[in-house]
Amino acid sequence: MILSNNGMALFLLRYFMAFVLLLISACSQANDVHETRFIMGTLVKFTIAPADRHENIDVAAAISAAANEMQRIENAFTIYGDQSNAIKTFNATAPNTAVALPEEVASLLQRALLIKQQSKGAFDPALGGLNLLWGFSASDAPTTPPSAEAITKALPPQHCIAQTSMANGKSGWLRTDTRCLLDFGAIAKGYAIDQGIKILRQHGIKNAIINAGGDIRLIGKHGDKPWRIGIRHPRQQAEMIETLQLEGDVSIVTSGDYERFFIYQGKRYHHLINPQTGWPAQTAQSVTIIARNATLADAWSTAVFIQGKKGMAQQSQFNQQVLLIDQSGKRFGSLKPR
Ligand code: AMP
Ligand code: MG
Repeated sequence: MILSNNGMALFLLRYFMAFVLLLISACSQANDVHETRFIMGTLVKFTIAPADRHENIDVAAAISAAANEMQRIENAFTIYGDQSNAIKTFNATAPNTAVALPEEVASLLQRALLIKQQSKGAFDPALGGLNLLWGFSASDAPTTPPSAEAITKALPPQHCIAQTSMANGKSGWLRTDTRCLLDFGAIAKGYAIDQGIKILRQHGIKNAIINAGGDIRLIGKHGDKPWRIGIRHPRQQAEMIETLQLEGDVSIVTSGDYERFFIYQGKRYHHLINPQTGWPAQTAQSVTIIARNATLADAWSTAVFIQGKKGMAQQSQFNQQVLLIDQSGKRFGSLKPR
């Protein structure tokens, strides 16, 4: 290789820059702790920032405890698989028969029912029958929609789940109709992320991210900088529609029509169901919510997806932020760090 003086200088500069860049990226990667687990049907990535790597914290034990807690929540709330849990048992009870629910389930159900009320029924935790019929969370992904008759038959009534007293005088829960099946699929992931962060904090961790397939809660900072979070473009898988610099305690969750879907006769059918019609909502490509915890961000990203643009105004009342990409790809709202 023959180089002029200038050429040689440039070559050395490039070589030096490449070395420095390599060093920077190697340093930041070496100092973060990453761990990925498969929970709730998705890859859950735990990232712990360098500040929390010191002898008083057993980072591996903290991540392991957080992952175990998230797995416990999946087992407690799923309506799929063979293992029994309180929700599957409740879904098999005769209508109008009050039964007890574990405190944790009752508490998340109460939060879900409040969001159902606030979203005027757009978010509905009793859509299990319809969700099972569509089959988006089954092991074999669907390729054709159910028949219109089957959908009408599975459509649950507005008033589905009620809190009431049981024969022994204690508080219990009933379903009003066999079409009312609890399904926490739109809120349990957020709840699991919140519980995961709670466990990390109990282990002394102050700077971390739990990212469950793009649904995120972050705490603290990434070294001396904010965390950088990318929001996926709903149509270009490798592209970001937004990159945010966030720190403190921020939950950011997206519901999108690209997550679980099939195209049938040129039309997209996805897993976000309008409880009024029983069909996938034709409102948006994606909705991202920033809220004070991941449970709220998860439930509201689903709710606003069903509501469409008319659901956005309410978000500021809750001090939540929303970014909606409509069906033509136009952006509405914005996500500003609080
Ligand atoms: P997410 O990806 O968080 O928006 O949640 C989607 C999941 O929530 C679906 O797979 C269903 O299990 C469930 N779901 C679908 N539509 C609704 C709805 N309108 N209200 C509540 N849960 C829903
Ligand atoms: Mg959700």
